[in-house]
Amino acid sequence: MESKGRFGVHGGQYIPETLMNAINELEKAYEYYKNDLEFNRELTQLFNEYAGRPSLLYYAEKLTKELGGAKIYLKREDLNHTGSHKINNVLGQALLAKKMGKTRLIAETGAGQHGVATATAAALLGMECVVFMGEEDTKRQALNVYRMKLLGSDVIPVTTGTATLKDAVSEAMREWTKRISDTHYCLGSVMGPHPFPTIVRDFQAVISRESRQQILDKEGRLPDAVIACVGGGSNAIGSFYHYIPDESVRLIGCEAAGRGIDTFETAATVNTGRIGIFHGMKSYFCQDEYGQIAPVYSISAGLDYPGVGPEHAHLHDIGRAEYVPVTDDEAVNAFEYLSRVEGIIPAIESAHAVAYAMKLAPTMDKEKIIIITISGRGDKDCAAIARYRGEDIYE
Ligand SMILES: *Cc1c(COP(=O)(O)O)cnc(C)c1O
Repeated sequence: MESKGRFGVHGGQYIPETLMNAINELEKAYEYYKNDLEFNRELTQLFNEYAGRPSLLYYAEKLTKELGGAKIYLKREDLNHTGSHKINNVLGQALLAKKMGKTRLIAETGAGQHGVATATAAALLGMECVVFMGEEDTKRQALNVYRMKLLGSDVIPVTTGTATLKDAVSEAMREWTKRISDTHYCLGSVMGPHPFPTIVRDFQAVISRESRQQILDKEGRLPDAVIACVGGGSNAIGSFYHYIPDESVRLIGCEAAGRGIDTFETAATVNTGRIGIFHGMKSYFCQDEYGQIAPVYSISAGLDYPGVGPEHAHLHDIGRAEYVPVTDDEAVNAFEYLSRVEGIIPAIESAHAVAYAMKLAPTMDKEKIIIITISGRGDKDCAAIARYRGEDIYE
């Protein structure tokens, strides 16, 4: 069995022969450019001058006092251009694609956040861009479809399967096999076949590279826990990465439990899934009794994916990171709580991490430190949360 790109037993390259050339070309290019000074200088410039990095590490004093335990810091990825951590990965991959001589980006998107980020990078770097989006999602996220078009991208509705994110991923992979000469597939999370989980992780690792230095500057020591939400797992692995060797730092990933892990309406992959092979990788997936990928549910469209990145699956297996389920209800409460207490409206995805911190912080001593990654801002979620509370407002 293929041993490249393994995280323990997970990861690998489970792909059709037709994708092998594109994947090999990408791997070779990445191996070269990741150590290229000019590439890294250009990427750092894009991060700092365009995306607004470094993002703040903010001491949430009111939140800390209200919860009455550990000192809480927020890593503010919501302040990045386009409103989330997704721009980190997209700028990295778009620049890499450009160096490889590609002129066209394709991407999949669920809620539309990754599609908008990719369309943004394509506009900036003067590349063509086509985004695949489940037809169901194009209806639910009409505003993001408009944004992508405004940025100069084409949006292709995908009608296969459940017409949602997993089908958009499959379609983007299919499109890539048809047109690899000028096209790069800009994958949106730490998933898919090697080298994607490594590439995306390296670009997102800027989060923990910064936060580690920032907390050392502010507190003179490392945090006791780092908490992030997990969909595919890119903001979480980026938040964890530079702390993995520091055994004293608890790494906690918050999965979307939806209506609860004892129901079928959940997206908590590590907590309810089983090992399988899908979308080019071995990892944990939500599956039905026949081993088919199960439909998943969460109030948060960004966490609504039936798999998890292979490096998370491995960190779970070896006990280095913990994966905890957080329900819709808990996330909505945290969404409202952080807004009220700190004046920061988090993405509903990020609110899953806030919700777990609200449980954990009061159990910890006052000299302990928690960092929560706020992966994105919550403006996009306001209408849906209002609806959840029974109030109908127009978007
Ligand atoms: C897409 C998204 C996520 C989930 O993706 P990961 O790859 O797990 O990080 C989380 N938060 C926000 C704000 C997102 O847009």
